[in-house]
Amino acid sequence: MSATAPANHALMQRLPAVDKLLAADELAPALRLHGATQVTGAVRAELERLREAIRAGIDVPHADLDPPTIARRVEAAIRARSAPRLRSVFNLTGTVLHTNLGRAQLPDEAVQAVVRALIAPANLEYDLETGGRGDRDDLVSGLLRELTGAEAATVVNNNAAAVLLTLNSLAARKEVVVSRGELVEIGGAFRIPDIMGRAGARLVEVGTTNRTHARDYEAAIGPRTGLLMKVHCSNYAVTGFTASVAEPEVARIAHERGVPLAVDLGSGTLVDLADWGLPREPTVRDIVSAGADIVSFSGDKLLGGPQAGMIVGRKDLIAKIKKNPLKRALRVGKLTLAALEPVLALYRAPERLAERLPTLRLLTRPQQGIRVQAGRLRDAVRAAAGAGFAVDAVAMSSQIGSGALPVDLLPSFGLRLQPSTARRAGRELARLEQALRGLERPVIGRVADGALWLDLRCLEEGDEPAFAAQLASLALALAS
Ligand SMILES: *Cc1c(COP(=O)(O)O)cnc(C)c1O
Repeated sequence: MSATAPANHALMQRLPAVDKLLAADELAPALRLHGATQVTGAVRAELERLREAIRAGIDVPHADLDPPTIARRVEAAIRARSAPRLRSVFNLTGTVLHTNLGRAQLPDEAVQAVVRALIAPANLEYDLETGGRGDRDDLVSGLLRELTGAEAATVVNNNAAAVLLTLNSLAARKEVVVSRGELVEIGGAFRIPDIMGRAGARLVEVGTTNRTHARDYEAAIGPRTGLLMKVHCSNYAVTGFTASVAEPEVARIAHERGVPLAVDLGSGTLVDLADWGLPREPTVRDIVSAGADIVSFSGDKLLGGPQAGMIVGRKDLIAKIKKNPLKRALRVGKLTLAALEPVLALYRAPERLAERLPTLRLLTRPQQGIRVQAGRLRDAVRAAAGAGFAVDAVAMSSQIGSGALPVDLLPSFGLRLQPSTARRAGRELARLEQALRGLERPVIGRVADGALWLDLRCLEEGDEPAFAAQLASLALALAS
């Protein structure tokens, strides 16, 4: 027997009983809030942890075994466990549509519609005119037709699902002709060749990485061709000695051979962004008028709505897509449709869109306003960061994100935090990032060139007080 055994035994004897802990004043609020089952479970877990420590020969201080001390630790453990895992953050990365931070922020109209759909039954698939069964797509297909000029529309869970469903419905066991320059990978898990395989379609690559010509498409079409497809090169740009065939011409080639053309637009904007001084992107309506038979695009990229995948196009093809059993597996829920309808409705008044749609509002914030904001916040951030960091208000570039217009950068402004000394600069930066992430509402910036950059484009004025209020906690975290 080890020499510590008698000491262990004495410590074990000091451990309070479960009942005694449950009666402690410190646990009364937790019992009211979380109920006896959870609190008892947490008490048992804490006692077991202490027992194990004692068994392992650790000399646990007597003070750690006092019922109030144990009760306080149990309370803290329950509080930590009960905190929501999905939390609001400040996106100061400079990427407006940040996939890892949830992409588009929705307008209040959408928020209210989601709340209504959450708390009361709704006519999701119920026709209020006839009293018969309805089609959930009908809630938004009218708006989608109006805004894109397409004959018909349907909605699924995201654009990846839209592409999968389109390929499986129109080209299973057939060939799909795609330019080599458009075989893209988007965010790791979505690769056109892989989706093609999963959809049961056979990929026929044409052209080369940098150049594809009309004759390449023409030569590839045969009796087994089910579809011609064009994919938006969302997250990269082919520059230099390049050639691609524009939609009107690919559509002409496809239609001459009686084959439909599907276009995966990725972001798919519904308005000409050049009207707001942003880089021009073809709109969904442009691609529909160019002759595409099917166009798919995301709900939460440039559109600025909830995660969803729109499929618009020819009536007969949309009907075929809707009949595919996979459509049932990929359909959207009522919360998505509730949010999507008011977002689409905002597009009926394009002159007010930049003020009402958060995504467009953030993308069009003038640099001068962001610069003034950076000047306003600099001293407070400098004070919070302390002597360890040099804090400057500097010009920087934001990106749209989510693969939209990857090479076009938006002039922005923000704060650059640089470790004051070169020694251990990497560690200091990591500590700063961690302190910012540890705040009640975590602040996410971007590390580049030996500094942490806080791009203020996505910190709207209404959020500024909440941001500033946390700086005292930041100072504390960095000082410890
Ligand atoms: C983003 C993107 C997708 C995937 O869309 P999700 O809505 O994220 O599923 C597919 N294709 C292209 C070209 C894209 O840019």
